[in-house]
Amino acid sequence: MRNPVGGHVPVAGGLAKVGLGYARELAAETVQVFVANPRGWATPAGNPAQDELFRSECAADAVPAYVHAPYLINFGSHTEATVERSVLSLRHSLRRAREIGALGVVVHTGSATGGRPREVALAQVRTHMLPLLDELTHDDDPFLLLESTAGQGSSLCSRTWDFGPYFEAMDSHPKLGICLDTCHIYAAGHDLAGPSGMRQTLDLLVGTVGEGRLKLIHANDSKDVVGAHKDRHENIGAGHIGAEPFAELFSHPATEGVPLIIETPGGKEGHAADVARLKELRDTR
Ligand SMILES: [Zn+2]
Repeated sequence: MRNPVGGHVPVAGGLAKVGLGYARELAAETVQVFVANPRGWATPAGNPAQDELFRSECAADAVPAYVHAPYLINFGSHTEATVERSVLSLRHSLRRAREIGALGVVVHTGSATGGRPREVALAQVRTHMLPLLDELTHDDDPFLLLESTAGQGSSLCSRTWDFGPYFEAMDSHPKLGICLDTCHIYAAGHDLAGPSGMRQTLDLLVGTVGEGRLKLIHANDSKDVVGAHKDRHENIGAGHIGAEPFAELFSHPATEGVPLIIETPGGKEGHAADVARLKELRDTR
């Protein structure tokens, strides 16, 4: 299969029992989960039985799994407590990812708060995030996947070329990768819906970080127009990006073998329809 297609699944009630049950109802070929409250700092222990079931069922069905780290994480914050909590929270997500057999942990690239220059914030990201990458020494450790934002406020990374200084700050660590969110990159100003827009954007990304760094795609349409800097996801084909750019995505060499995760509205039915829609675009290209 060129690109597994799946979704972010709820896990309250059991990682395997609820999460993989939901995934089956979507006919998902890949899954993404939270291992902590995404809007909190808690670092809960897992349930060993559910962890083992999740790991073995994903392996048996060849379903690549990913963890999304909490939203509060910001390594560029001017608040010391936020940076300290970010370290603990991301380390927790990375450890939990290994425990459940996930291939990658998605983390937002953060912003330079407190009116500080971007270079100062990036230097701080290096100081606190690079050691976490150096801790990934086991064979089955996940990749750390940077997800750029829609470009609100003093975002450290929203356009494709912003990954350049970020990767430089991380010494292009071998465990570092990218999660491309189509809604975010469109909102940041890359017109995926324009002529060859998807191809050009992927070309720019590869030109900035090199081949093999794109490890995951968050496939979301956008409720807002290009460059709106708004992070409002829409169902595939129902937003301003439209369906065609996703068909284009499936034929770009940079996306070969890269899983697609939807994070769209509409509950279970909406999610199932989006997964089906993407598979159709993939299989009829
Ligand atoms: Zn996303």
